Amino acid sequence: MKNVRLNALNMDVSVANNVFYFDEGYVQDLKPKLDFLKWKHGIGEYPVPNNAFGHMVCADSGQGSFFYVFYLKSQDGWTDIRVRAHEETHALDKMAGLQQLNGRIRASGFNVNLPDYDYETRACIGGGILLLYGDRI
Ligand SMILES: [Zn+2]
Repeated sequence: MKNVRLNALNMDVSVANNVFYFDEGYVQDLKPKLDFLKWKHGIGEYPVPNNAFGHMVCADSGQGSFFYVFYLKSQDGWTDIRVRAHEETHALDKMAGLQQLNGRIRASGFNVNLPDYDYETRACIGGGILLLYGDRI
């Protein structure tokens, strides 16, 4: 096992040694980065909503599981932290599960149980709670 740092969520998470996480940072446009990762890992169709501000891509191969987050630079810090935490929550969800984040949220007094929600809503909650209450959790 090894630790992976999720900067926006402000947490370290333990993952298997064959899990590789890359925070690719800000990009000018999501599509070229996505196209590059699709080519690099031989991924087929990978839909990106037209209104996306960021993206998380995962790819499995014989060498392990690869996770990438990247995002557009937002003009305001609030949107920026929400988008980054949203994409990190997606990665966390697939890499290690949400128990650790869910525990932090609940320990801060929020009666939220992330596994009760669908994949996209879980990431919205992760990003939103970090935006609104990041100093508390
Ligand atoms: Zn999402």
